Amino acid sequence: MIRNSALILVFIILCQFGLSAQTAHRFISRNFQEAVEKQTRTFKGVPGPDYWQNKANYVIEAAFDPSTAKLNGLASIVYFNNSPDTLDKIVFNLYQDIFREGNSRDWDLGGMDITKGTNIKSLAFNDIKVDLLDKVSNQRQGTKLISKLNNKLLPNDSLRIHIAWEVSIPVKRPIRMGKYNDSTWFIAYWYPQLAVYDDMDGWDMISYNGSVEFYNDFNDYEVNITVPKDYVLWAGAKLLNPADVFNSQIVNRIEEASSGFEIKHIITEDDYKKFKITNQTAKNTWKFASNNVPDFSFGIGLGKQWDMVKLLVDSVSNRTVIINSVYTPENKHFNKVAQFALTSVSYMSYNWPGLAFPYPQVTVFCDDRTGGGMESPMMANNSAPDDEADAFGLTFHEIAHSYFPFYMGTNEKKYAFMDEGWASYLPTGLVDSLYPDHTSLKWIVKKFEENAGYEFDTPPMVLNQLMGANYQSLRLASYTRPSLAYNFLKNAIGVELFKLGLQNYMKVWAGKHPTPNDFFTAMELTAGQDLNWFIRPWFYDFAYPDLALRKVTKDGIIVIENVGGLPLPVELNLLFTDGSKLKIEKDASIWSSGEKSVIIEFTSEVPLQEIDLGSDLIPDSNKKSNKMLFID
Ligand SMILES: [Zn+2]
Repeated sequence: MIRNSALILVFIILCQFGLSAQTAHRFISRNFQEAVEKQTRTFKGVPGPDYWQNKANYVIEAAFDPSTAKLNGLASIVYFNNSPDTLDKIVFNLYQDIFREGNSRDWDLGGMDITKGTNIKSLAFNDIKVDLLDKVSNQRQGTKLISKLNNKLLPNDSLRIHIAWEVSIPVKRPIRMGKYNDSTWFIAYWYPQLAVYDDMDGWDMISYNGSVEFYNDFNDYEVNITVPKDYVLWAGAKLLNPADVFNSQIVNRIEEASSGFEIKHIITEDDYKKFKITNQTAKNTWKFASNNVPDFSFGIGLGKQWDMVKLLVDSVSNRTVIINSVYTPENKHFNKVAQFALTSVSYMSYNWPGLAFPYPQVTVFCDDRTGGGMESPMMANNSAPDDEADAFGLTFHEIAHSYFPFYMGTNEKKYAFMDEGWASYLPTGLVDSLYPDHTSLKWIVKKFEENAGYEFDTPPMVLNQLMGANYQSLRLASYTRPSLAYNFLKNAIGVELFKLGLQNYMKVWAGKHPTPNDFFTAMELTAGQDLNWFIRPWFYDFAYPDLALRKVTKDGIIVIENVGGLPLPVELNLLFTDGSKLKIEKDASIWSSGEKSVIIEFTSEVPLQEIDLGSDLIPDSNKKSNKMLFID
């Protein structure tokens, strides 16, 4: 989507120094090698000359009845096959088939909300009706519908699809979406969605069992949703017809908030006592549109408050972002969430990752719970945690997902560390500076050292789908370990190079489908270094944080052994017999030679009394060998 020729030139120059060849030092999967042979990918951190991806344009008419929790829809889709392959089938994601009886799930639902699955009422390819009773040609596998094409879809051709469906929205066991109470619904994973067909795997056949989340192409959406009057909708897309659905006072306030840069209350608690918020015909149809986004989700509320603010995110193009917060007075700290979101989007645009927020709007919708959150493009379905720093961090985290994975197009079903790692790490600096008592980075360090090194601590490169329902594995590999890896790599290669590497990767791959190797190579080429000494143990190997003091001599030689195998920063605190102190700090590059032990030297006239290895910002799963006392 974004090409930066100067940047690519930098890559090419670095490649001439032979850096690209060094990627062979880490495992390169056969599907990646084959993609390089097909010239869709390269070993240079950029897409190949024949890179392609498919796209769908959706026009959806949907009606939702909160009294029955049934959603009916008709989608008219044009699917573009930009691949060089002839497709003999179409694969749909039917996410709500997670509730289909007999399907496997990553956790037990206690029999609640079980359905017969998404009811596909009709399907047509190029206006020719599909016989859905033909179960051989239309297979339901997990949460997939696989439909054979009688007329194959040729390369560079498109297919018109009409699909009508009905789905029950979960009311007792919402999983990432559903009914939270009579006035709060969040509707995601709700329409028959083209699965991704890509150059790495062909059709994405990974079923949604609850744990693995997004992998989508970049599509265009026109979605009309009809609901009873008084219900208000907020979507991850632009509302096209505010004057049709809202009272004129609300329309005026939206216009006013859109023209300034201050937080405005669009709907207040008092408004509900004074006038009707929505048009009072029996039903209202809410019309939304979005372009080049990976998904469409929406929140539905009764009696919700709504704050709005506009932010300039790119002073060159003057591009702005509309930020919305939707909540009730009972949702703790939510009267500040518009400000939290404003601070977060500003920080993301100007600091980390330091690229303008990629979408025209974002909405934080409170689902009335007190824990957890769920992302969608331009939407966050968030709880209201008790602690203000947690509320701020959650706001940042779920909005950061609009960059990772939604702007970057990564496959979260395989590599959640490529989005959850960033969404977890990026807020730590800001949250810890705004809430000094919170220490979120120290908390991540603590969680990691407690859990790392057990059998469930699988390397992040193990596909998330294979970790399945093991929550500990998923959590460690997708959130905890990559957060710390990014932090220590930043310190090892320097903040400037690290940020440039991240931005180079983002600029080259945004709107596409980068794999981990594309990211690692982009970082290496920007840094001008082979980083396998770091990348391999942190992302590919079974390894855990454990440094040990092995030897300290009177003449100032300290030997540290890396027992667990992860390259970590080293902090040594030395106390001398006269009470004087010396702190020695080394970043993780001290391990770049790959040696199992390193020597650190110091000089002092005064005898050493005590030496301590480690800090609460460096994980260490075994602290028994981190201290030495010298008593004569
Ligand atoms: Zn997340």
